[in-house]
Amino acid sequence: MNGIETTGNGEKAMSTPKCLEESRTRLVVPIVDFNRCEGKDACVAVCPYNVFEVRKIDNSDYRKLSFVGKIKSHVHGGMVAYTPHADQCRACGLCVKACPERAIKLVKV
Ligand code: SF4
Repeated sequence: MNGIETTGNGEKAMSTPKCLEESRTRLVVPIVDFNRCEGKDACVAVCPYNVFEVRKIDNSDYRKLSFVGKIKSHVHGGMVAYTPHADQCRACGLCVKACPERAIKLVKV
């Protein structure tokens, strides 16, 4: 593949070579600190790639929270942001800036 694809009407369009696309998606993933996250949805709203899903915290994750984290969890209804599509992250940083709890970090993988 040379990065040039033919569209339906025969025009040629530039595209990101598959190898670059794959290396970019594997470089960085967002990690959510559940002791800070309050499930306020800011990350869901700003992420252009639908990386996040806000839902009730899993029991196994709840058990790992700190004492203060468990109290906070009860106060905000146990909602947190999971990253079911972390592999789609393009490291734009919008979620990090948007999170009011400063709960998201981008981590190289
Ligand atoms: S860094 Fe950008 S693409 Fe990655 S999860 Fe955050 S908002 Fe989405």
